[in-house]
Amino acid sequence: MSAHPELTPEQLLVLRETLDDDIARLGRRLAHLKADDSVALDQQAIGRVSRMDALMNQGLAQASDQRAVRDLAAALEARDRMDDGTYGLCGGCGQPIPFARLDAMPEARNCARCG
Ligand SMILES: [Zn+2]
Repeated sequence: MSAHPELTPEQLLVLRETLDDDIARLGRRLAHLKADDSVALDQQAIGRVSRMDALMNQGLAQASDQRAVRDLAAALEARDRMDDGTYGLCGGCGQPIPFARLDAMPEARNCARCG
C-alpha cells in the first residue's frame, strides 16, 4: 500500500471537500428514505458502505434514488480510501490517477485507461 505520489496536500483537500459536499448533498437527497427506519440514513450509519448495499438490495422504487445511492456509496468509498491512504491509485493497474481526472471525478476508482 502506497499513497498517491503526486497529489499535493492542497489538491487532496480540494478533493476531500468536494467529496464531503457530495456526501452531504446526496444524504439530503435521500433523506426521505428515513421514512423506512430499517434503512435509516442517520449521520452515523451513513459512513458504512454496507448500509448502502442494504439500501440497494431493498429494490428502491425510484431509479433516481438508486443512482443517488450509488453515487453516495462511491463518494463514501473514496473517502474511505483517503482515510486508509490508497486514494487516487488506480484499482486496475495501481498507477496514480492524474489530478485532472480526480478533479473532474473525485470518486474515480480507476485511471482513464482502465476505465
Ligand atoms: Zn489503471
